[in-house]
Amino acid sequence: MTALRPEVAESDRDGRPGAGTPASESEGTGLVQLHESIAALLASRGQWRQAYQHLRSAFDLVYADQDDPPQVPEQLRREVDRLRREHAEAREQSLRDSLTDSYNRRYLDERLLDIVAERGSTAAGLAIALIDLDWFKQVNDTFGHLLGDRVLQRVVELLQEELPEGGFCARYGGEEFVLVLPDVEPGPAVEIAESARSRVERHAWASLAPGLRVTVSIGLAYEPPPAGGPTRAPVAPEQQLLRADSLLYTAKQSGRNAVAYRANGRVLLAGAASGRRGIAESRVAGY
Ligand code: GH3
Ligand code: MG
Ligand code: MG
Repeated sequence: MTALRPEVAESDRDGRPGAGTPASESEGTGLVQLHESIAALLASRGQWRQAYQHLRSAFDLVYADQDDPPQVPEQLRREVDRLRREHAEAREQSLRDSLTDSYNRRYLDERLLDIVAERGSTAAGLAIALIDLDWFKQVNDTFGHLLGDRVLQRVVELLQEELPEGGFCARYGGEEFVLVLPDVEPGPAVEIAESARSRVERHAWASLAPGLRVTVSIGLAYEPPPAGGPTRAPVAPEQQLLRADSLLYTAKQSGRNAVAYRANGRVLLAGAASGRRGIAESRVAGY
């Protein structure tokens, strides 16, 4: 951390103000030191923003009494730039899942809150697809956990292909992922989910391990624009996720490797699975 006040006040070896140093000046020096120490401590913990604020306070104290606006020393400018960059990188990392590099649950929760708030003013529709790998425990048991990890990474790559603008993929937990598709119509939302399912099914999995096959089941919950316009309260994201979970259950019970969604009050399976008989009923009462 850069020392800011070489020429502020004379101090003896113990850090006490030198002879003739006015008391207020020595208090100021003490404050500068305090700010610097706190900044160093915060920086060592990765709390860059707060560290920067303390550095800034120290800087202001040092130059408070000078008539000419001070030039920011080049070294300090570089250090602050570096802290800002590292802070941005650390924040990005904190929102990513370390195995698959998809967004994590924290990002999902934050973005859903933002999206719902924005929908309050833009009256856009929102689709949420909950995706679960089929029989994934068997994949681990047969091919090993490490290969299972590689399958999860590959599935995320496949899910993220062809996402519309504003759409993103997040790891919900374990072998479950969420696709969030803001501002889409119901028809295209079903098509996006079905083509993601189909990409996973058609992928050349045998190149990872002979005999390997991977499929996913998807529950797609669509929330239309608020009927009463922007003034009506939008559906809470947790509620929409519950609906997606209920539809995912239907997809599983109906034979897996399918996208289940609701249209005109009925639960349907998309694309290739649409001809299947005996679609299981949803387990969430009232939906
Ligand atoms: P279903 O079709 O009903 O979803 O069956 P399933 O076997 O996929 O479901 P189950 O819940 O029985 O098993 C999920 C498995 O996912 C068990 C768990 O070990 C595995 N899993 C969760 N997270 C990871 C991970 O990060 N890496 C690996 N390799 N496996 C994981
Ligand atoms: Mg699961
Ligand atoms: Mg599963």
